[in-house]
Amino acid sequence: MSDAPFRKVAIIGLGLQGGSIGLALREHAPAIATTGYDRNPDTRARAAERGLVGHVAGTAAEAVANADLVIFCVPPMAMGDAARECAPALAPDALISDVGSSKVSVARALGEALPHHLVIPAHPVAGTENSGPDAGFASLFQGRWCIITPPEGADAAKVQSLSALWQSIGAKVEVMDAAHHDLVLAITSHLPHLIAYTIVGTADDLQEVTQSEVIKYSAGGFRDFTRIAASDPTMWRDVFLSNRDAVLAMLQVFTEDLTELQKAIRLGDGDKLFDHFARTRAIRRSIIEQGQDDARPNFGRQ
Ligand code: NAP
Repeated sequence: MSDAPFRKVAIIGLGLQGGSIGLALREHAPAIATTGYDRNPDTRARAAERGLVGHVAGTAAEAVANADLVIFCVPPMAMGDAARECAPALAPDALISDVGSSKVSVARALGEALPHHLVIPAHPVAGTENSGPDAGFASLFQGRWCIITPPEGADAAKVQSLSALWQSIGAKVEVMDAAHHDLVLAITSHLPHLIAYTIVGTADDLQEVTQSEVIKYSAGGFRDFTRIAASDPTMWRDVFLSNRDAVLAMLQVFTEDLTELQKAIRLGDGDKLFDHFARTRAIRRSIIEQGQDDARPNFGRQ
């Protein structure tokens, strides 16, 4: 009898997240059989070439047959359709999970599509700006948080099994209420992406700054924004649509704070600016101390 929390895991969506889970399971939990499906035939072919899962199925139904865990790794607004496609072939006691970046609306979509199954959503706070079947890598989740948002009264043993699976591929697990998750991620992830998308678009729109100047002088802070702003347009469109309320709430607070800084600049209030920047520098240092980023220039990227 194996200690693995699941016998067969089906992964729906074989891009960055799905591919990374498959590769990580192959490396760290080889006793677990993995199958996968993606709606895109080219992605399925590439996933098979890279061995992202043990078996790439030709249909969603084939992938989920006999699986005791199904993880949906498709964009947030595609979760419901993907789940409906699998529904007829699911084992009655299969646990349903996902990796979507927003949790309240994704949990609702999965619950509506699969009303007779237990859905325990999850969100690995680990990613890159790359997507597709070539983007995944086995160490994506090492030392990263995975937030699990079980519904009230969810079977504790199933929550434990899902936590064990994430821990087996290197993640640190936190259990959280879905609505709280959405607020936290709105400020730590969703708003920063919105700001990056805005600032890169604004620079591009400016008539008096040429494209070549934007590229040439990008090291002055702009470059890190361009990396974030290169993130997948489908996924990020879906993140803002699926986490609308929390993002709008955080955007309101952010806009007020931005206006405060604008006022300090206009009034020449150097103390206020200095105090603010000193506080934010300390936050950056504590992120590095907690191992959530790298102190090397350009985040250690080549
Ligand atoms: P990705 O690399 O674009 O992979 C998603 C894959 O799902 C694509 O191959 C897509 O195919 C496929 N797909 C879409 N609808 C489908 C359906 N109905 N049935 C089967 N396959 C379908 O995206 P990702 O970065 O892995 O993101 C997947 C999920 O992870 C999202 O919910 C996202 O919010 C979450 N997440 C992402 C990150 C990150 O940094 N990227 C971090 C944490 C969580 P097409 O190419 O044909 O659309």
